Amino acid sequence: MTNPMRRRAGVPLIIKACFMMPAKPKPTTIEALCPRQACTAIRKALRTWYDRHQRPLPWRQSRDPYRIWVSEVMLQQTQVKTVLPYYERFLAAFPDIHSLAAAGSQTVLKLWEGLGYYRRAHHLMEAARTITREYNGCLPTERDAFRTLPGVGDYIANAVMSIAFGQPWAVVDGNVKRVLARLFCLEDPVNRPSTHARFQALADHLLDRSDPSTHNQAVMELGALICLPRNPGCQACPLAARCRADSDGVVDRYPVRDKKAAIPEHAMVAGVVHKRGNVLLVRRPDEGFLGGLWEFPGGRCQKKESLPEACRRTVQEQTGLTIAAGAPIARVRHAYTHFKITLGAVACRWESGRVRLDGPVAFRWVPLRELEAFPLTGAIKKVLLHLK
Ligand code: SF4
Repeated sequence: MTNPMRRRAGVPLIIKACFMMPAKPKPTTIEALCPRQACTAIRKALRTWYDRHQRPLPWRQSRDPYRIWVSEVMLQQTQVKTVLPYYERFLAAFPDIHSLAAAGSQTVLKLWEGLGYYRRAHHLMEAARTITREYNGCLPTERDAFRTLPGVGDYIANAVMSIAFGQPWAVVDGNVKRVLARLFCLEDPVNRPSTHARFQALADHLLDRSDPSTHNQAVMELGALICLPRNPGCQACPLAARCRADSDGVVDRYPVRDKKAAIPEHAMVAGVVHKRGNVLLVRRPDEGFLGGLWEFPGGRCQKKESLPEACRRTVQEQTGLTIAAGAPIARVRHAYTHFKITLGAVACRWESGRVRLDGPVAFRWVPLRELEAFPLTGAIKKVLLHLK
């Protein structure tokens, strides 16, 4: 006798095969991806959500273009909670463009110390001086003019023009890309530079031209609070009804990213060179990595070189001094965007020579207790914790 269960077990397979649908073709144009009606619904949902849920951040309490500009510069590559105390201190010290333009670079760098990406501080200073000189201290209201200032790229230009002046420029940062990638199941890797134009075109298309300021801030806020990189809060998301990744159950697949190369790690050494109660600090050139910050002299260790050997060699190369290198006093790790370092600090004694710099642009012999008055690199600040 035939087992009825067996016969029945085959049926669903056949039915399934008959009803297999061909894969839905993906829309190719931006209009097809987000038709007008969908755009309108998304804009409205975003605005309503933002009105209720936005964080009361200090730069949102002001329409002063200078304050908005400073906040956007600080927020590039940096989280809101990190920026908040820096923003308050910076604006207390430099409440307007004139005061920033008149400030010394070491004062500005000291206030920026620890925030990272120090080119941003140099660019802000240079741009403030240009605005004071050429625009009578008023931030240019024309995007093209503003875009020519040091450090002002497309993101900063669009953010400041839209938020401060209500102009219809759409912003695209990491949060915006993530939201768009998930909303429309975009296969374009978010970290591949060649895909940026497509995200920008989509953001332009979606922009609410009746209120670009609120719209731009709302998309970024959604990315920061709900559409998080991990575990997005789709159940609380105002765009869930329009989100393809959510409706297809594939949120985890987006945004697509190109695999990053492994981050290299370098062994570095710093010499804490003592001479008559002072230690030697050197200043990095303003241009380039960690520009304008102070540190102990030193450099990269060579293979098979001990820390004291590397210390003697690098201090001599950078400063021309002959030193006696003692024992390592601290070993700290520090991560930058594209590499990490392990920095060994070595206690040293000056033996002979006058300082002749090769690489650094200035030096000071400083009592230990006064080191903190200088804007220092992050790694050296970690070493100081050990010295204390
Ligand atoms: S529904 Fe989820 S994945 Fe889609 S935009 Fe909202 S939070 Fe992001």
